[in-house]
Amino acid sequence: MIVVMEKGATGEQVEHMVQRVAGLGLKPHVIYGTERTVIAAIGEKREQMKESLESGPGVSAVMPILAPYKIASREVKPEPSMVAARDLQIGAGRLGVIAGPCSVESEEQIISSARAVKAAGGAGLRGGAFKPRTSPYSFQGMKEEGLKLLAAAREETGLAVVTEVMACEDVDLVAGYADVLQVGARNMQNYRLLEAVGNVDRPVLLKRGPSATMDELLLAAEYILNEGNPNVMLCERGIRTFESHTRFTLPLATIAYLHRKTHLPVVIDPSHGTGHAYLVPDMAAAAVAAKADGLIIEIHPDPESALSDGYQSLNFDQFAETMTTIRRIADAVGLAM
Ligand code: PEP
Ligand code: MN
Repeated sequence: MIVVMEKGATGEQVEHMVQRVAGLGLKPHVIYGTERTVIAAIGEKREQMKESLESGPGVSAVMPILAPYKIASREVKPEPSMVAARDLQIGAGRLGVIAGPCSVESEEQIISSARAVKAAGGAGLRGGAFKPRTSPYSFQGMKEEGLKLLAAAREETGLAVVTEVMACEDVDLVAGYADVLQVGARNMQNYRLLEAVGNVDRPVLLKRGPSATMDELLLAAEYILNEGNPNVMLCERGIRTFESHTRFTLPLATIAYLHRKTHLPVVIDPSHGTGHAYLVPDMAAAAVAAKADGLIIEIHPDPESALSDGYQSLNFDQFAETMTTIRRIADAVGLAM
């Protein structure tokens, strides 16, 4: 259920209702909107609960939440949410661009990438230090050494560092260096990991599993939100279909669909979504035209020599050119960069 407070409800009234919700054995989540405050009351609904809450001070209405996901739902928070880390702002009318190599490979590689991202107007630096690779024989990432290099790149450029955390036991380590924690597609339904990132004070970029439905993605986000971390971004990175001309199939309708169902920002990954560098600029542009809140793009100083995903990485010039196009489209659809 959601307890919708009256427009002028006081902090005391909200706190009182939080206690009432908890007293009924439900878990309260307070969501502060621009118009009014609502309290999502999560748990099993029983007889009389609605009536009991309705009589509370400062309460305007008590309504059921129809969607299977609750805190992520637009029913609970009609206005879009913005997630921010340093100068990276994603959502609620702001378009944020995250770019960088698939994997951190060396100091020279990550620092030069960070400079290119900054120069082109990006606000987030991506780079995997813990890499989920299909084969155990492929490069697995530089681990903590890579995290240190990301931190050095942030030191120089001020970019927000976005990097993947693969396991519960690494959450504190990665959160010690990262501004945004990425949960990769392969881990979208690793529920213990979702709970773990729900308990740290870092925004989370949650990537869609290649065979996950929209409801499964939203329910995965709900695990993080339910632990008390409100800063979740959903990332469409392509799904597996019968089609083989691209690495994955990138459904851009995800943007409009999620904007209808959730207040959480939507980030598009045209790199993994296509698997071919030549397709990335146009798909990035199309995503912005469809009002994506963010983009995450793989770039590399020398894509041919990349240790992972070079075939889908832009070089610095291609990235700068893509950013010029994106800026014009963002302007046309009313997104601020
Ligand atoms: C990545 O971002 O490099 C990555 C491994 O992404 P995904 O989890 O979407 O495959
Ligand atoms: Mn990659």
